[in-house]
Amino acid sequence: MDYTLSQSRIKVLSSHVANQIAAGEVVERPLSVVKELIENSLDAGATSIDVEIEQGGIRLVRVKDNGCGIHKDDLALSLKRHATSKIASSEDLHRLMSLGFRGEALPSIASISRVEIRSLNEGSEHAWLVSGDGKDQVNEPQPVGHPQGTSVEVRDLFFNTPGRRKFLKTEKTEFSHIETLFKRMVLSRFDVAFSLLHNQRVIHKLPVADTEEKKLKRVSLICGKELVNHALYVEFNVGGLNLSGWIAQPTFSRSQPDMQYFYVNGRSIKDKVINHAIRQAYQDVLYHGRHPVYVLYLQIDPELVDVNVHPTKHEVRFRDSRSVHDFIYRVLKDALARKIADDSGETVNFESRFHAGTGHQTGRSTNSGSNYQNFSQQSIPLKVQEQIQNYSHLYSEDTQQNDVQVLSADESMPPLGFAIAQIQGVYILAENLHGLIIIDMHAAHERITYERLKSTFSEKNVRSQPLLVPISVNVSGTEVKLAEKHQQLFESLGFKVEPLGEEAVIIRQVPTILRESDVEQLLRDVLADIAMYGDTQRILEEINNILSTMACHGSIRANRKLTIPEMNALLRDMENTERSGQCNHGRPTWIQMDMSQLDKLFLRGQ
Ligand code: ADP
Ligand code: MG
Repeated sequence: MDYTLSQSRIKVLSSHVANQIAAGEVVERPLSVVKELIENSLDAGATSIDVEIEQGGIRLVRVKDNGCGIHKDDLALSLKRHATSKIASSEDLHRLMSLGFRGEALPSIASISRVEIRSLNEGSEHAWLVSGDGKDQVNEPQPVGHPQGTSVEVRDLFFNTPGRRKFLKTEKTEFSHIETLFKRMVLSRFDVAFSLLHNQRVIHKLPVADTEEKKLKRVSLICGKELVNHALYVEFNVGGLNLSGWIAQPTFSRSQPDMQYFYVNGRSIKDKVINHAIRQAYQDVLYHGRHPVYVLYLQIDPELVDVNVHPTKHEVRFRDSRSVHDFIYRVLKDALARKIADDSGETVNFESRFHAGTGHQTGRSTNSGSNYQNFSQQSIPLKVQEQIQNYSHLYSEDTQQNDVQVLSADESMPPLGFAIAQIQGVYILAENLHGLIIIDMHAAHERITYERLKSTFSEKNVRSQPLLVPISVNVSGTEVKLAEKHQQLFESLGFKVEPLGEEAVIIRQVPTILRESDVEQLLRDVLADIAMYGDTQRILEEINNILSTMACHGSIRANRKLTIPEMNALLRDMENTERSGQCNHGRPTWIQMDMSQLDKLFLRGQ
């Protein structure tokens, strides 16, 4: 290359070139086109949106809606840069309710493809068409036939920028990106019908979902039927923040974070603070390396959140990210910690509404459609806990085997029922109103012991011990200040941390239980947490890890024979222990096989 000292004079780029450069930010691949067009349709108030794709979107993306349409005189303008009907001043940016606002998408798309827009605006006699062919000019509107709404057709993406086209993957890959995005978008608006076609084949067709049941149906079409058996509905409202949606029980987790849907004011986002809050809520119940599944909606005053942070608008910035973090963490943690006995609705002392995903299951017939791969923990009746006496009454030593009463819908039947046997020293069998329950004895006991250790630990205050040789840790100046500011927090957790000069702190005292841990690393991580989220759970996590190991060693091992009263005592403990549906590693502790599922195994009544 020839490097010369002289530079050319400054010129203003033609808008065509400027558009192509901007397109790089807005349109990376076909999926970006689909995203922008669906967002425009939603902004136009559409209640029905049809997406048609050919050859992974490279050959054609067409999005048709029944929204407000574009006025004939605005049609050509819509393809001009920074032309938007959604904001008028910079103040409007602070209270955005629309998905678009930059006026960049259509001009960017038009600069790298062949575009046709057909639109019938309310009050207009007929529809109009404008088209562009990747150059800077747009034809005069032509009359055309089109129902109320708008169709935007984008053909031959990147035909005039072959360099960019080379970066596209196969048709199949591009389409799978589009489908992933489509799924994300259809969960954002239950009041809109959507369809997706690929190469003339219908891939998804989703009618409007206007009831709880239909909403959950749409969620299950997107996340898979299995989710329904494991979903907890969450709804909580406090101080202008509203969180609602579904979270999956830890036993329905994924090896990839691919079923995580989070919406802020209807906009799908990926946010570090929110991710962290959710992960933390699942901490302690999720197997290491597994990812939780959720579909959650946060409603927040638009003035308290900034979406104008990133071109793809996938990121947001909360004015007060700490309270949002706290709110989400607490709501989800409580939902996951709910005791089995709490399902009665009588012992729930929580204002929010949690119920099983399938709604209120009461009878054995409600679980139709499930097969024996998805026995769930969800069909537990809403009953209160009961004492062992009930058991001894039914199954006391002198009761004859053939005397065993048929269980009726008796108020005194506890959720997990009564034990009937132990198998191979590993599983307990129990019977409840719905049928059979199988319990992993060790896993269940481990959770109970762990939760007990945790509450004893927190009731007794943290015991701590001074270090013989205090540890000095080099940290940044900001971190020294944080350590100083949060001295009380450290003390409440059994640490004594003091500043040591400008860029070091000294640890003088640690909780006794952590004396074998790497406290230096722990302190660094804690300070990083405080800097990032304003809070930390790390010390408690570390303590919990150790308690969890203790619980594992202190729990009944497999192959120990239990008596029936012992088994029942275990069941009652499970009903009254938080998170007892999963062992400390996130595996299920029990499953329910209801009568209809048992009947299926024996092909009864089919
Ligand atoms: P933005 O969405 O940021 O305003 P766009 O380039 O995506 O910018 O769209 C430009 C304008 O064209 C929008 O502000 C809107 O007025 C109009 N428009 C685009 N798509 C549609 C549609 N499907 N229905 C109605 N109006 C639309
Ligand atoms: Mg737009």
